Amino acid sequence: MTLPFFPPDLFDDDRQTILDIVRRVGTAAEQRFILGERTAAFERALAAQVGAADVIACGSGTTALTLVLRSMDIGPGDEVVVPAFGCAPLASSVVSVGATPVFADVHPWTMVVEPYEVAEAITARTAAIMPAHMFSVMADMPTLRDLSGHHGVRLVEDSAVAQGGVLEGVPAGRWGEAGVYSFVQVKTFGTIGEGGAVVTDDPEIARAVRMLRNHGQDGRARFVHHLVGHNSRFDEITADYQLHRLPGLAARLERRARIADYYTERFTPLAGRGIQPPPAGRDGRCFYVYSLLADRRDDLKRHLATHGVGSHVYYPAPLPAQPAFARYARPGQYWPHAELASARTLALPIYPHLTDAEVEHIADTVCAFPGEPR
Ligand SMILES: *Cc1c(COP(=O)(O)O)cnc(C)c1O
Repeated sequence: MTLPFFPPDLFDDDRQTILDIVRRVGTAAEQRFILGERTAAFERALAAQVGAADVIACGSGTTALTLVLRSMDIGPGDEVVVPAFGCAPLASSVVSVGATPVFADVHPWTMVVEPYEVAEAITARTAAIMPAHMFSVMADMPTLRDLSGHHGVRLVEDSAVAQGGVLEGVPAGRWGEAGVYSFVQVKTFGTIGEGGAVVTDDPEIARAVRMLRNHGQDGRARFVHHLVGHNSRFDEITADYQLHRLPGLAARLERRARIADYYTERFTPLAGRGIQPPPAGRDGRCFYVYSLLADRRDDLKRHLATHGVGSHVYYPAPLPAQPAFARYARPGQYWPHAELASARTLALPIYPHLTDAEVEHIADTVCAFPGEPR
């Protein structure tokens, strides 16, 4: 049995649908390939699903973050507090608007940003805090929302990986003044190309993001640029395909959650052997990536590969340790939990079309890892 971490057959069942959509959009009289009716319908469907006043579809999750920061007028001289452990867009989106990322350490088990570390990082220059949901755990949004209110800083929610997650009854993306989703292939609502979205109730943010995604135009007068914009437009073929996939999302997420439940049940007894699964439960969870922590991570990865199980390390280094972002690391500051997470984290396959037998094989293989008793 060989189970890749990134399955190549994600969209196999949809091949005919994809061809039909390409034909439909490609041969339509209006020859409209971006920001047309299908994109608008997709935005309305997403907004209805999470009860948001507005959704603005963008070119990617990364540009969605950038446009949100721009809509808040965050730029040179401003600081944005981001997790020290996470994906590059958390820092690069801040840098791309001319602001400075300030890194806050994460929780050693859940790997989401620690609110007290965020509080410590806030200065007079802080314009926003930007927590991210990580792997299968949503950030502590109630505390972070209180923090943002208390300090009078904006709250941007990087919910790129957490679409469908719900914390205390509030969907991921709905905790911040604005949230974002990403539709890049590997995400839970991944697609056949690139895409992202901004979710917000704030009409000012929505209006600005709508203009910023298309060169600062307001959608009425062409070639009138109200803002220095970007190109972050959404594709009609992608919109049609995502509309086709949206009704099945809940069932795919539920399948992911069940696989995670099973893994966690199997791995909880492994604590004495240096393997720790994420917390059990469903509230505030999203199951984009099932990451466990292993003292001998690289050995476990090799053991899994030997038995035909693909795994992946998200992320091998904390953000401030990356060459691109090291200059933003405050001298003398350390992120020990982010360091520990990058040394110990290992993600297992959790895609919804894994069969029960495959899931069992993956769990058996992890459980057979000859860890050293502590
Ligand atoms: C994937 C991801 C993004 C960026 O999304 P893209 O669509 O790849 O640009 C941003 N933040 C987090 C936490 C992500 O995992």
